Amino acid sequence: MMVVDDVLFQKVKDFSPQPWSIDLDNQRLNCSRQLMSALGYPKQNMLTLSQLYAAFETQQLQLLKQHIAEVRETGIGLNQTTVINTYKHRYIAEIMICDMPKNGSMVKGSIQFTQYFLTKQQELEFLKKLFSKSSEAFMIADANHSILIVNQAFCDVTGYAEHELLGKPASILKSGRYTFSFYEKLWQYVDEHKIWFGERLAKTKQGEIFAHEGRIQRIDLEDSSHVYVSASHKLDVSTHMWQHDNLEEVSKVHIPDKQSFISLLDESFKQLSHDMTIICITFDLQMLQTLSKLTQHWLISQRFARLTFTGHLGLVNESMYAAYFVVSKQVEPIDQTLKKVIFVLEGNDESNNMGLSANITAGVSVLYIDAKSPTQLLSHSVQALIANSRLAKSSLYYFDRRLTKRFDRKNTLATLLKQALAKKNIAVYYQPIVDISELKIVKFEALFRAQLETDINYSTQELIEIAEEFNWIDKIDDLVTTQALKVLPLLQKHYANDQIGLSINRSVNNDRIAHCCLEDTLKILEQSKVDLNLVTLELTESAYFEDSNYHAKWINKLKAHGVSIALDDFGTGFSSLSYLRQLPVSIVKIDRSFVSGLTKQSNEYEMINMLCRLTHKIGGKIIAEGAETEQELHLLSSLGVDMIQGYIFDKPKSLQDILSTPTHGTFLQFQTLLSRANAENAQAIMRRDFPKISTDDKLKKALESFTKHKVKQLIVIEHSQCRGILHICDVNAAISPYLNTKGEQHRDLVTLNKRVHQVMSKNFLEVSMDTPVKHFYPKLIEDPDMVVVVVGSSGVCVGVIALKDILIQQSEILTCI
Ligand code: C2E
Ligand code: MG
Ligand code: MG
Repeated sequence: MMVVDDVLFQKVKDFSPQPWSIDLDNQRLNCSRQLMSALGYPKQNMLTLSQLYAAFETQQLQLLKQHIAEVRETGIGLNQTTVINTYKHRYIAEIMICDMPKNGSMVKGSIQFTQYFLTKQQELEFLKKLFSKSSEAFMIADANHSILIVNQAFCDVTGYAEHELLGKPASILKSGRYTFSFYEKLWQYVDEHKIWFGERLAKTKQGEIFAHEGRIQRIDLEDSSHVYVSASHKLDVSTHMWQHDNLEEVSKVHIPDKQSFISLLDESFKQLSHDMTIICITFDLQMLQTLSKLTQHWLISQRFARLTFTGHLGLVNESMYAAYFVVSKQVEPIDQTLKKVIFVLEGNDESNNMGLSANITAGVSVLYIDAKSPTQLLSHSVQALIANSRLAKSSLYYFDRRLTKRFDRKNTLATLLKQALAKKNIAVYYQPIVDISELKIVKFEALFRAQLETDINYSTQELIEIAEEFNWIDKIDDLVTTQALKVLPLLQKHYANDQIGLSINRSVNNDRIAHCCLEDTLKILEQSKVDLNLVTLELTESAYFEDSNYHAKWINKLKAHGVSIALDDFGTGFSSLSYLRQLPVSIVKIDRSFVSGLTKQSNEYEMINMLCRLTHKIGGKIIAEGAETEQELHLLSSLGVDMIQGYIFDKPKSLQDILSTPTHGTFLQFQTLLSRANAENAQAIMRRDFPKISTDDKLKKALESFTKHKVKQLIVIEHSQCRGILHICDVNAAISPYLNTKGEQHRDLVTLNKRVHQVMSKNFLEVSMDTPVKHFYPKLIEDPDMVVVVVGSSGVCVGVIALKDILIQQSEILTCI
């Protein structure tokens, strides 16, 4: 912030808030004479709105108009601080717009000039001063890269005087260290992204090469021309270092030498907590450009500083670097940490890959795996580096071969997958999802497949994880989605069912917020001719919980286009049932780990049960993944799962395999396994004889009836219709506790004369005889005390169903399996 001379910002004296009113019908402003003269019209009584508006600056005027419109719409007043230009002064003013009747045409308010503001001239001079005095080096060039304006700092850094630069091409500053294509790419990048950040080398008038860091910004002007603004500062490396390879100067680049590095390592070793380990990496690099050793040291230290986690860098000898990191004692984070280190050291991050990228060869040693002490760590990592060959790409060698093997597998798969993707040599398999009530295919899940040429045994899941780690997953998802959308009509035709839908997976990785994959999905879906109401997008929980606002926006857009959203692999993340209500999903897919080997006694059974109840309550559907056995199918159907996807119906298959098998798309052979709750209607399972009682009967009679029929509920009937349910517990609560005790008195006996209608419950649900059991089963599960009353066409009560009636029927079937 710049502190401006007080005198320029005097308070406006003797100016109390002045009332004004605007008549929108005739576009006039009515106000006090004092305000009129302050605005520069001392002789007028009234102003047109345009005269008033002329005192405002464009953006603030827009805001004022917006505020007036808002106040008219809501009737609620507003305040605005603004700059007002009059012919004499510029002021800072507070405008107040009063409350008013909605949509009225008379807007009223007040205005107070609080401070004098800079005149246009003063403002311009200020900005000029700011620009020229800034310690950042500024340069503005036109669309042809000719220099238009430079500031003093820019002249200081480059050694040129202002007049030597103006009108000259910006290439006058080229360092000669980069190829032509470097600059071509750079400008292309700026034109496309409007801004580029990074370091560059440039040359002063005296021919010295220097490094500077900053941004180049493209600013599009209103007249469709544009300019480039470069703002940078010189990096703290003295210029002579670029020319001499004097190793004594290394200390200026701040890379500790071997001895200091070992002391640092020692220190970290002593402070290490029991759950952590140290990885030591020794590396050298091959640059694509020839750079002096010192330039290289500088570059490596700059890149190392960009790592988002802590590490320590050292110099083992003039061309070998070492670094160490403290990480948790697990194998996976080690490889991931090192991958990131290599990636950053290569200079492969977006803004910096132009011309200065490097191949890194590294040797790695891990404390407690192959080394016991700091010195051993360093020496093992050096050995691992020396013993291995330099390849045409970056490579990592572990001292312990077991680690190399472990990560080699991943790297081999990654390389093969990359090749397969480059050639688009991938396939999509389709697995049916079957609706339980009709045992009919309702949709197919599209699953990625790649046939890699290797003996390594790998799973799709593993490839997907690699693709996620290497950021190739978007490409896979786009290819799979595009292909599956093309195939859907063929599947529909094969099954003679144009309602068959498609379910696709989308990995949502939070590293890629700038590039929203859900946005891509929507684009691909919109371009296809498929009815989007038939499409489901399967997302895992991370899509909802990490940066939920951002993803929520796109999820809602997808939903607005008719796409259903499914929560995939439920139960494997940190999902909790209570979260489910908040998620915008209509389908929950229970992970295979809950379904495999399901038994009625298991915790998984209870979880699925609860999940079904909750999901149904919020109007969603449940798919169980990975059902393989008949027992699993039976239990899942009894729990009220809506759809099943699993080997019991079919494995994922190629389109060709599916089309070559004639089918109806139904699996009626499993009918007998289905829980009756799903297969039957109310009439089939209702109890026809049930103990009844009348509304006017006394509780005394009810008690006799409970004992006689050995039941806990009586159905209250009047004119053959159900009026309520009488629960034994409610009766006990209504009669005196002294009955049948020594203290029994007359008034206690009287409580037995109370009438049934006084204590009966209305908690019953009427259904017709052909209502499928699955319609009321979830409600019964939720409220086990409720009774389902089955009524005939004339409303007469013909039967009742309690939860236990359904459960008994189910266990009968179970024992038959
Ligand atoms: P998912 O989305 O949960 O897909 C279901 C997985 O369960 C599939 O494995 C399927 O073959 C398997 N499966 C289905 N029924 C059974 C069964 O009865 N028994 C057994 N043992 N397995 C069954 P797949 O095809 O290997 O895919 C694994 C995972 O990889 C998928 O899990 C999904 O998370 C991911 N994936 C697959 N294709 C894609 C894709 O195109 N894009 C993305 N982002 N992820 C994908
Ligand atoms: Mg899935
Ligand atoms: Mg799944």
